[in-house]
Amino acid sequence: MTATWLDGRPVAAQIRRSTAERAATLAQSGRPPALRVILAGEDPASAVYVKNKEKAALECGISESTLRFPETVSEAELVDEIHALNGDPCVDAILVQLPLPGHISTARIIETVDPSKDADGFHPFNAGRLLQGKPGPVPCTPAGIMELLKHENIDPKGMRAVVIGRSDIVGKPMALLLMHAHATVTVAHSRTRDLPAVAREADLLIAAMGKPAFVTGDFVKDGAIVIDVGVNRLSDRDSLNRYFPANAARRAEFDKKGSTLIGDCDPVTVFEKASRVTPVPGGVGPLTIAMLMKNSVDLAETRRERRMS
Ligand code: NAP
Repeated sequence: MTATWLDGRPVAAQIRRSTAERAATLAQSGRPPALRVILAGEDPASAVYVKNKEKAALECGISESTLRFPETVSEAELVDEIHALNGDPCVDAILVQLPLPGHISTARIIETVDPSKDADGFHPFNAGRLLQGKPGPVPCTPAGIMELLKHENIDPKGMRAVVIGRSDIVGKPMALLLMHAHATVTVAHSRTRDLPAVAREADLLIAAMGKPAFVTGDFVKDGAIVIDVGVNRLSDRDSLNRYFPANAARRAEFDKKGSTLIGDCDPVTVFEKASRVTPVPGGVGPLTIAMLMKNSVDLAETRRERRMS
């Protein structure tokens, strides 16, 4: 079987359009939804992600500003800043861009964000609500994947789903969302024995490991749907030749920038086995950003409704 692409961009555009309409309604009846992003340190990938979030917020009519801190910022300074944002009635949503500098406790910072302003849905209060299937902000990447499946009429009900990765921000919430959607879910990780055999059980395979092209065709059941969450930078020419042998655009990008992006899936061998595969870039990434915008507007609407009741 040869796969076709499962493109995230049109779905993301649709989510951004409906989010923009809701943001405009909020703006007409008071003020636009307000998102504050905290960026600490100089991580180049984080800088790119934050720039993309700023652009998306502008497009959606969400008032966004990024509070930038040097690598040397103290945990106490970040905690104080978050307390100030928690108490500011003109702020609806707060996002802390990860990773934080190594000397800062990520758990403490996440737990400092008011759960009712938690744009990423990472606070343990919201993680607990997700566990119990209660409404609340859901981590953007798995929430975006669920939107993609819905848009493509892929119903996880009854499917065997295998999620490779058990992080708090992707793997675990993904597994919960699929379980709530009535899939039979297996979560695999670095200690899983015979990972290819476990993965081959999947009708729906989610790769969220952060290991370039680790998942090969040998991991994929014929006709499976594969969601590639990984975002990795590939910078050696041998790998370029192996994974993108006839892709002129990739080769031109590589020649210009000295690297290109690759997911956790081998684009050649996985494509030969799967029925649908999300591209990297252009699959899960745009959905993550669109869902951040949606979460921000959801939080703003909920705060507005609470104030009015
Ligand atoms: P993470 O916190 O590093 O978690 C990686 C997970 O993969 C861990 O659970 C780890 O297992 C598992 N893993 C690592 N090596 C493995 C192996 N050889 N076999 C089986 N499992 C293995 O990463 P993350 O934050 O979840 O992100 C995963 C990837 O998704 C990264 O590439 C990240 O950049 C990407 N991402 C993309 C988006 C997007 O919008 N496209 C958003 C978020 C993340 P253990 O728990 O046993 O260590």
